[in-house]
Amino acid sequence: MDNPIRNVKGVGEKTEKLFNKLGIFTETDLLNYYPRAYDVFKPLTPIADITAAGEIYTVSGKVMDTPKTKKIRNLSVTSTRIKDESGIMEITWFNMPFLQKTLRTGFHLTLRGRIVRKGALFSMEQPVMYKEDEYNKLVGVFQPIYPLTAGLSNKTVTKIVKNLLEKRVEQKDYIPVSVKQKHGLADINYAIANIHFPRSAEDMTKARQRLVFNEFFTFVAMLAIRKDNTLNLTNPYEIRDKSAADRLIDRLPFKLTGAQQRALAEIRKDLHSPYLMNRLVQGDVGSGKTILAVLALYEVAMSGYQGALMAPTEVLATQHYESVTALFEANDIKLNVILLTGSMTAKEKRTAYEKIARHEADIIIGTHALFQDKVVYDKLALVITDEQHRFGVRQRETLMKKGGVETHYNAHVLVMSATPIPRTLAIILYGDLDISIIDELPAGRLPIKNCVVDTSYRPKAYRFIENEVHAGHQCYIICPMVDENEEIEAESVEKYTAELKAVLASDINVEFLHGRMNPKEKNAIMDEFAANNIQVLVSTTVIEVGINVPNATVMMVENAERFGLAQLHQLRGRVGRGNAQSYCIFINSSDKPDAAERLGILVKSNDGFYIAEEDLRLRGPGDLLGVRQSGDMIFQIADIFADARLLKEAADSARELITSNPCLDGEEYTELKRYIERLEAKQLSTLNI
Ligand code: ADP
Ligand code: MG
Repeated sequence: MDNPIRNVKGVGEKTEKLFNKLGIFTETDLLNYYPRAYDVFKPLTPIADITAAGEIYTVSGKVMDTPKTKKIRNLSVTSTRIKDESGIMEITWFNMPFLQKTLRTGFHLTLRGRIVRKGALFSMEQPVMYKEDEYNKLVGVFQPIYPLTAGLSNKTVTKIVKNLLEKRVEQKDYIPVSVKQKHGLADINYAIANIHFPRSAEDMTKARQRLVFNEFFTFVAMLAIRKDNTLNLTNPYEIRDKSAADRLIDRLPFKLTGAQQRALAEIRKDLHSPYLMNRLVQGDVGSGKTILAVLALYEVAMSGYQGALMAPTEVLATQHYESVTALFEANDIKLNVILLTGSMTAKEKRTAYEKIARHEADIIIGTHALFQDKVVYDKLALVITDEQHRFGVRQRETLMKKGGVETHYNAHVLVMSATPIPRTLAIILYGDLDISIIDELPAGRLPIKNCVVDTSYRPKAYRFIENEVHAGHQCYIICPMVDENEEIEAESVEKYTAELKAVLASDINVEFLHGRMNPKEKNAIMDEFAANNIQVLVSTTVIEVGINVPNATVMMVENAERFGLAQLHQLRGRVGRGNAQSYCIFINSSDKPDAAERLGILVKSNDGFYIAEEDLRLRGPGDLLGVRQSGDMIFQIADIFADARLLKEAADSARELITSNPCLDGEEYTELKRYIERLEAKQLSTLNI
């Protein structure tokens, strides 16, 4: 069954490489590469009937002029006009300069794309071209939309998935029959076929339910199997100096909040207890989780052990490293802190490995590079992962296993997360962890002032940003997304930056950050921003997690309507981290009333829990075609909020099964057992974040 993807019709060497980039190596991987949404094609719309920006329409008409291509930095913009019986519309393509040669005046085109407002007129951006009769056949059909990578189009992926489904051999179902019956679940083969190409909303829902159940069921089963192995392990680490951390706390530039004190007390109680710690600290963005990590690391390091802090991105790891070294320097603390990340040179890494092995490093901060085989720790007593939801369970465990005064001991584990999940769900998802909650922001924080505005407000927003910068503050701007293409996105960030430089006062330094830059470049920009040598940072969502520059007071998000609310809340969390009043400007480029209503939730509250709940209420449990909650790496299709009921059912079912049959003995469970093993292996291999 598990043939390499190359076996599928339509996959050549080049396409194979692109699929590999998406983590798709085998046919099974591709079958499990679910669409992130569906498109239902609407009938053609007369140009004159298009009166609102933000939505996707299809028009059909004649090309009026020879297309012209402009270069804006690296981005080429090709445009023409198209005319039907009712009117005329401008059409724009990015990075498709060849259209200038292939499109002629008088050609009849059917174009489907997003409508944007250009002053008083509407224009269509980056449309896909069809033949009119071809298009008419697609009307009403569910078309899958896949997550993509540069060079791989949705059309290609769709075609290849179709080819695979046609030649595929049906697979055995791994969810036991009794479980399937009890929960009325569809067969796995039906689910796979219908998640890619449903013929109706009901088919899609049924398929999706089955696959969501799958994810929850196997995940919880995996945790349940593992739980027995990690419960109540003896704590071999002795905290000799129990007052060192207290002395550091007294010297901090701020007083810990009550919630921080409670969480810290729980952490320290664990460190001093006869058993190893296994704890989750959950606290909304800006609640001050980092300092707890630092204090815990300090406490173990002062007793002669090593401690490690792992972050999901290099930028965040570097920032943690810099803030810890600054704190230690200010307090004349002589511990050795080192950074270990994937982008370091081979030589730098080697030096780091040596320092770690010889215990010339007390605190090691880095990315997943921390648990590569080559890293050998000396008395690693504590492992902390920041932004835990970005990592798999297995990754956490691998690092923990590197602990020990002797190799057979594990390290204490502390994980930190800002995902605002209700306690009941957290208990299911992190079944193997104790939970501390920080439900209080540091005193003196002024609530962020939010506004949702349309694009005509932009000039005002720029003036506002200018004033904030001249008052000594800094600003982030999250750039519009052109489409799901990292390359075009990067170029659009650069173009936006160039345009912004022209409209902001010349003493303001504007720079950009995007996923296409290498980690060194990203770090350099973040350093300059942290040092206020850059005042305005134009970025994609790469700054979403963890970044802390308290002097930044304005967050402006272009095309806010295209993001999930949870993601917008995370982004917003980059401001309001100091004592100054902070502001968040959400630019809504859509004319649809429900986009405004959805974004309005963010204005009503700065509370992550409230936002997650309202988002769900507004979407309704059935409405899952839209934006996904971002950032959560644990599940591919399941949404822990929207599918909370299924999560509970699947979790109960999985636990019941594992309790009665911990080793999954018996023929009925062979497939399930294999599936869970694969799941574990997969968690371990998806390290390249
Ligand atoms: P998060 O919980 O999002 O990881 P951080 O730990 O990055 O938040 O903290 C955000 C900012 O708040 C940092 O600048 C940090 O120094 C500051 N901070 C943390 N705790 C307190 C406190 N008790 N009082 C004042 N500022 C604090
Ligand atoms: Mg943080």
